[in-house]
Amino acid sequence: MSYKAIFLDRDDTLIEDPGYISSPEQVNLLTGVPRALIELKALGYKLVVVTNQSAVARGIVTEKVLGEIHKRLEQLLAEKNAFLDGIYYCPYHPEGAVKKYRQESELRKPNPGMLLKAAEEMDLDLDQSWCVGNSSSDIEAGLRAGCKTILIDLPSRQRQLKPNDPRPDHKAINIKEVVNIVKKYHRSSIEAEAETKTEPEEQVEPVEQETEQVYEAAEPVEQVAEQIPEAVEPVSQATELTPEVVEPFFSDEEQKLEQTPEETQAEPTKQLEQEIAGEGTEQLLKSINTQLKNMQRTDMFGEFSIMRLIAGIIQIIVLFCLLISIWFLISPNRQDNSVFTALGFAMVLQLMSLTFYIMHGRK
Ligand SMILES: [Mg+2]
Repeated sequence: MSYKAIFLDRDDTLIEDPGYISSPEQVNLLTGVPRALIELKALGYKLVVVTNQSAVARGIVTEKVLGEIHKRLEQLLAEKNAFLDGIYYCPYHPEGAVKKYRQESELRKPNPGMLLKAAEEMDLDLDQSWCVGNSSSDIEAGLRAGCKTILIDLPSRQRQLKPNDPRPDHKAINIKEVVNIVKKYHRSSIEAEAETKTEPEEQVEPVEQETEQVYEAAEPVEQVAEQIPEAVEPVSQATELTPEVVEPFFSDEEQKLEQTPEETQAEPTKQLEQEIAGEGTEQLLKSINTQLKNMQRTDMFGEFSIMRLIAGIIQIIVLFCLLISIWFLISPNRQDNSVFTALGFAMVLQLMSLTFYIMHGRK
């Protein structure tokens, strides 16, 4: 089983970029990075740093010092309980000053070499993975590797994408927003899976029917093969469209304008599901708490009540009075007054018993 991963650029994505970092002391984590990494890992992703380090080729830093810089990065993250699963770097540059590293390299972004190497060594599924970085070379590398991509456009360095720049799947202003995008994508995927599971027969049936019709008409095998994918196509399109649900480039109003009538009708249900999945957690806990309290009250009154006890005792006395009145009736020395007295007692006590039962019910 392959793992899904998030490939992270290093400079201006995880740590501050003062130009070239040449010593461990220069490593400073960007705000929110440890927490973001913890949350991404909790979603089941391997966290892999992929960074161009032409500083090695330029002679600014040796690979040994680069190793110490990366150890410092891991140490700072570990202090906040965040951990990386791998760090890949490319020391090469075609115009490097150090001969050993002066060369083109498939590892150097925008080439996807580092991502492919990591995928092979760490058993990563690139289709299920993301590439996150602050430059167009990060995005191109991610796209060429087959990953989903997020461009971090820091407010301090915001720039317009050039016409030839690769288009990221999403844009974020910081690593915190990256986490929100990935989480939103997860929720959409889970909802899409749930919808597919609830209506599997309806989707498959038309394909089977068309296949049967093809056999009845005894058309050539090639035509059958051509027609079946056509029938399946709408399902696969629906799956591909799922990520667009989390496309952040459009405002809410723009998204509403693009929605079909069916989507608009389905919107309240989707909103409700999203509330339950995300923001509704607190409400859910409150409702569970209320239900538990109600259950406690019901149990308390159901198990024992002084009123019910008194009513029960009176009921027994009523029965006793009735027995006495019967005994007076069949007695050889029958006295009507005694019978009426006993029956009168029984009636009064019965009323008292009923009163206590009613009072218990109101409580
Ligand atoms: Mg960078």
